[in-house]
Amino acid sequence: MMRFQDKVVLITGAASGLGRATALQLAQEGAKLAIVDRNGAALEETQGALRAAAPNVEILAIAADVADEQAVRGFVDQTVARFGAIDGFFNNAGIEGKQNPTEDYGIDEFHKVVAVNLDGVFVGMKYVLQAMHRQGYGAIVNTASVGGIRGVGNQAGYAASKHGVVGLTRNAGVEYGQFGIRINAVAPGAIMTPMVEGALRQIGGDDWEAVGREYVSVNPMKRLGRPEEVAYVVAFLLSDQASFINATVIPIDGGQSYK
Ligand code: NAD
Repeated sequence: MMRFQDKVVLITGAASGLGRATALQLAQEGAKLAIVDRNGAALEETQGALRAAAPNVEILAIAADVADEQAVRGFVDQTVARFGAIDGFFNNAGIEGKQNPTEDYGIDEFHKVVAVNLDGVFVGMKYVLQAMHRQGYGAIVNTASVGGIRGVGNQAGYAASKHGVVGLTRNAGVEYGQFGIRINAVAPGAIMTPMVEGALRQIGGDDWEAVGREYVSVNPMKRLGRPEEVAYVVAFLLSDQASFINATVIPIDGGQSYK
């Protein structure tokens, strides 16, 4: 399938995990990509992987922090200046933060997580929506989480931010549908990315693989997800095939949200 021939897609958190897997999927479907990540070295490496997968891919790579509003405005402007429009936006950069019971959860940690996962997603939407409203079309996918739908525990900042992403998605979706712009979210469960490995190591220490097996045992499908299993859904939601899907949140979790 070449659903993204001549389409421009901006992706944040593009240098690892779900963002990188989505960039690879879209590059192979003909997209022109603006890839953003605060990790410049990983971004460089990701460009190499994208060119290996799709030799003709056009890439604009920008090292930036989504928690910095001016930087966000800057990379949105740069994308429009380089490619002329933004067809799709995968608003995905996020961090998990330290796990702690709520009574021990530090306010600094809370603000740090919310600054990236919620403020970052909000300002990303704000500036991309300005461009999409001018164009009169576009699609946005925000990355929420199972932790934005149900309680997971020990993740006050993460839970607040991801529930917030669900709210931002529904709010903007009902606002902008009339302008030909769709806004949806994905809510991944445990997908094997560096972030999840980090979380397992934080909980399990040397025995982190045992914690991984515990995650697997509580999942209805008895396994973790793979990054490409999220990428396929994001690509679908950004494509014209999802033309009547708006303001919704799609769990990608093997059924865990409904257990
Ligand atoms: P990851 O750590 O593998 O990748 C995240 C990328 O985002 C990294 O390259 C990192 O450098 C970048 N990033 C982090 N903060 C940034 C910032 N302030 N500015 C710019 N870039 C920044 O993690 P992942 O698992 O691919 O997570 C991607 C998104 O998916 C996150 O929003 C995360 O909360 C969400 N998510 C992941 C899972 C999972 O199981 N992996 C589950 C639910 C939700």
